[in-house]
Amino acid sequence: MRVVFLGPPGSGKGTQAKLLASRLGVPAISTGEILRAAVLERKPLGLQAKAIMDTGELVSDDLMVALIQERTQDADARGGFILDGFPRTIAQASALEAMLTATGQSLSGVLNLSVPEPLLVDRMAGRAAAESRSDDVPSTVRERLRVYREKTAPLVDYYRQRDLLADVDGVGSISEVSDRIDRALRSVPMRRTAGSRA
Ligand code: AMP
Repeated sequence: MRVVFLGPPGSGKGTQAKLLASRLGVPAISTGEILRAAVLERKPLGLQAKAIMDTGELVSDDLMVALIQERTQDADARGGFILDGFPRTIAQASALEAMLTATGQSLSGVLNLSVPEPLLVDRMAGRAAAESRSDDVPSTVRERLRVYREKTAPLVDYYRQRDLLADVDGVGSISEVSDRIDRALRSVPMRRTAGSRA
């Protein structure tokens, strides 16, 4: 299975991507985690990305596409993968589509985790304290939410139009949301009803 998680920062997609990956026996690939590890290890990629991540903006599409292209070719990802935090722009989504098509692959589904904004802000404040993520400070959180609305939210329609999208309510306990995800995956590709708009 090749699954993409969409959802604003703080929606729980990292946690759910890891859980789903272990249920399916495929790797969870988080671009945010790869970047944070590169920062800690002082790799050139990390040095390039750190300043951008700290403002809440997005790292360049070219860099992210190259990173995903490389990571999805690793042996452990041959049988499938769960993507968390990629794609984040329409350009990244088209690059992913082209990359998969070129190797005769396709996405199995896209899960759109939705959580109301006030709850997202609370969750990220908690995470800033617990994990000391430098981009979870309030000013950066607001910017990340704005960037999400502007650059990433359009992917919801992009994938809905391709009949790949399943909406999942992200409010509830981790196991409640996991159960909803399993149910949603059984229902993709989503059927579009006649006359429905994306
Ligand atoms: P995340 O852990 O997914 O919230 O990502 C943390 C930060 O890493 C984001 O705010 C971006 O600055 C950067 N980042 C992660 N994934 C991407 C991506 N696919 N495209 C651009 N920037 C990304």
